[in-house]
Amino acid sequence: MSIVQRVYPTEGAQLDVLVMHCDHARYVYNLGLEQRSWWTPSRRHFRQKINYVSQAADLTEARREYDWLRAGSSVVQQGALRDLDRAFINFFARRAGYPTFKKRSNARQGFVVRDLAVRRVNRRWGEILVPKAGWVRFRISRAWTDICAATSARVAVTNGRWTVSLTTPPAVCKVADTAAVVGIDRGVANSVATSDGRMFHAPGFTVGEQVRFVALQRRLSRQQKGSANRDRTKAELGRLRLRLADRRGDWIEQTTTALATSYCAAAVEKLPIANMTRRAKPKPDPDRPGGFLPNGGRAKSGLNRAILASCWGKFAQRLDHKMSVVAVPAAYTSQECSNCGHTCPENRDSQAVFRCQGCGFEHHADTNAAINIRDRAFNIEHQPEDSLGDRVHQSRKRAAPTTSVA
Ligand SMILES: [Zn+2]
Repeated sequence: MSIVQRVYPTEGAQLDVLVMHCDHARYVYNLGLEQRSWWTPSRRHFRQKINYVSQAADLTEARREYDWLRAGSSVVQQGALRDLDRAFINFFARRAGYPTFKKRSNARQGFVVRDLAVRRVNRRWGEILVPKAGWVRFRISRAWTDICAATSARVAVTNGRWTVSLTTPPAVCKVADTAAVVGIDRGVANSVATSDGRMFHAPGFTVGEQVRFVALQRRLSRQQKGSANRDRTKAELGRLRLRLADRRGDWIEQTTTALATSYCAAAVEKLPIANMTRRAKPKPDPDRPGGFLPNGGRAKSGLNRAILASCWGKFAQRLDHKMSVVAVPAAYTSQECSNCGHTCPENRDSQAVFRCQGCGFEHHADTNAAINIRDRAFNIEHQPEDSLGDRVHQSRKRAAPTTSVA
């Protein structure tokens, strides 16, 4: 769990130190990555192992030699090596790809602060102790007790906006005062549909913002690389993206909290989002060596964008933090009749309408899928239509929050 607060360093001295820390963290991270990439089995005799301990020792040596490195903070520089170590652990555990170099041009830069010290100035403002920069002000938007519970922090800058993200112990889930369970179908037309017929839409750009965004992208493509005007356009695009990310983040928090407070357990489908949003495979043309046939690439990237815009992954992750969540296989949830169980593709009359070919049951397609997901997760059997009223009652009685699936 982490709490993100906005940081306001003073122009000049403090800002310069924070930028320096970002630069040093990036430099040390990249240097450490290069050292690790250099290691091969044939160089085993050279040194037993390159790991955090050996690299921290090398860093100490380098700090003795180079004044500019010594001018920085050893805590920040060691933190970068620790980040690198974590990246390699994730890589070897197959949770992540091979670590990549951090670029100076990346929109987001940051560094770690260990041995966290915070103090409160007044109701709205707090201060965090950053090595070499002293006390840096931040705006308090969360409970002070939660901020104090944090053990470490990461200071970051995105498009000129400085934030501190404080790592805190996970918040205690407020258990909903109900035995009701809910099935959740994630889709593109409706980002989230629940088994009792509610629909939630993830926010996007407004029409005006969309027009502005496209115009800026066009302008960017015409501008000289490395020019000041291009940098300005990039910064403005970044601000627009940031605004959208904030808006979507708020929506996720509000929607998941609303669900967590009105149901005791939720069911979602397992969606391999990374697989689903792969780009379309190129289709080689047999008549033209080296040529390609149309492969629907544009349509697929449009769908990918829509899937990513619906924030499915983040939504499920936050929901799981807040309530008991069961994940079930997604196969045929959209084709199965939630009334009689008849499953065939013809059941889908259109994107929005579900009409069963077996029993004639009609429902909103997304709601029908959400009911299937709920029934699969909580082992509720299909009931004939005339006892539909009973079924809702029964599903609540039989609902038991089972194991939570990440
Ligand atoms: Zn049916």
